[in-house]
Amino acid sequence: MATKQKTLEWEYAPAPEAAKIAKVAKRYGHFINGKWTAPSSGDYFRTTNPATNKKLSEVADGSAADVNAAVKAARVAYEGPWGKMSGRERGKYIFRIARLMQERAREFAIIETLDGGKPIRESRDIDVPLAANHFFYNAGWADKLEYAFPNRKVSSLGVAGQVIPWNFPLLMAAWKIAPALATGNTVVLKPAETTPLTALKLAEIIADSGLPDGVVNIVTGAGETGAAIVNHPDVNKVAFTGSTGVGKLIQKSIAGTDKRATLELGGKAANIILEDAAIDQAVEGIVNGIYFNQGHVCCAGSRLFVQETVFEEVMWKLKRRMETLIVGDPLDKNTDVGAINSKEQLKTIQKYLKAGVEDGAEMFQPKCDLPSTGNWCSPTVFTNVAQSSRIAQEEIFGPVLAVQTFRTVPEVIEKANNTPYGLSAGVWSDKGARLFQISNALEAGVVWGNTYNQFDPASPFGGYKESGFGREGGLHGLAAYLDF
Ligand code: NAP
Ligand code: MG
Repeated sequence: MATKQKTLEWEYAPAPEAAKIAKVAKRYGHFINGKWTAPSSGDYFRTTNPATNKKLSEVADGSAADVNAAVKAARVAYEGPWGKMSGRERGKYIFRIARLMQERAREFAIIETLDGGKPIRESRDIDVPLAANHFFYNAGWADKLEYAFPNRKVSSLGVAGQVIPWNFPLLMAAWKIAPALATGNTVVLKPAETTPLTALKLAEIIADSGLPDGVVNIVTGAGETGAAIVNHPDVNKVAFTGSTGVGKLIQKSIAGTDKRATLELGGKAANIILEDAAIDQAVEGIVNGIYFNQGHVCCAGSRLFVQETVFEEVMWKLKRRMETLIVGDPLDKNTDVGAINSKEQLKTIQKYLKAGVEDGAEMFQPKCDLPSTGNWCSPTVFTNVAQSSRIAQEEIFGPVLAVQTFRTVPEVIEKANNTPYGLSAGVWSDKGARLFQISNALEAGVVWGNTYNQFDPASPFGGYKESGFGREGGLHGLAAYLDF
């Protein structure tokens, strides 16, 4: 399925990872109170491989009754063994989960790629190792909370209701579950409808780790299942990652309750290339920021601002690099750009491609033969983009880059901040002082300097403005699960 290298005389030979290593059951129930539990409605829904649109498995459709059973189990575990356990003992379980995840890393990576469509290189090298690292990092804090927050008396919150999206299914589950456990809370988590399988695999290793029943419960389902978790009266803390639209709904629905909440929402990140930047490295960073992983990244560098003097050079190099991107079979180790997660998401992206052209921007796509089945979108770049254009303002969540130019630093800061979002940004310059000057002025939770999409469990991540509030990762991420 790998597409041809148009600018080269030769092609990489296919190097597909072995799908059969992954053990996927034909059908999954919910993971409630340490047991696989059939849905009370008896209903299941399909999860498919977006590269082929073939069915992989079917999973339970969670009703309010299922959510209620999960919250009850989490409450009993919180009042019982887990709530009474020392941090030292809690930490041992979390370390065990991290090690089991490492042992089964290959299987996790394959399932992540099958279910979500992201290239195996990304799930193997980024998603799974980072997810394990989040468990390791948080395990280390479980018995040291008094050192993490000196002179403060901290206590856990209770039952955490967690709802996550489809773009980093396992990693988001790790971001949510690991700090909740380290701080002594119990969990009810719902993965996204299109990518439930790695969260269910995680349930298997959680069972293998011997974690007491009910400490982590995983309920599958659609948006209504998520809403049932968020609105359950016995949930003390809501942790949500997803779209700004749903984030706003959640905020409204919990207003007036004493639930704590963190919301990690959408983004429209600006990548800024100054004329003194190392252009080759910058171009590679731009490609990494928007095209690898199909742009299915909340912090994707979806807007590019280039200083006028280097615009032609940057665009020439960028287009040449785009010609070499390999779009195709996500299980192939050579693939750079995998499948679009769902038919609906592909339609959304296509709507924006049309909007970009209608708004007067110039569209470029490298010539590549897309596979005939599955959901695919060529890497796309728009130039001549007006600041008011929909492709410059709205989150697309696909491999689509909107390029604008600037002359001065104050101008680019104003343009970059002119969006309702504020999740992340990147700055490329040879001068450290300029990196600091610009990054301080950008309204974004994370600003990368001369690099992009770098993550570390010790570093907090989160947004400004409509990209949400609260931080995940680092001590900030632990603090979100504690009362002071
Ligand atoms: P989404 O539609 O908001 O869905 C996110 C999760 O919420 C899914 O599990 C979804 O279930 C569930 N959900 C839907 N409606 C709900 C409701 N009314 N109440 C409670 N839960 C509900 O987002 P998405 O399209 O799956 O994910 C992409 C979005 O996530 C993008 O906007 C991206 O920027 C954002 N994101 C942000 C971060 C960050 O850290 N800031 C990280 C990753 C992604 P279904 O799966 O059934 O719809
Ligand atoms: Mg799927």
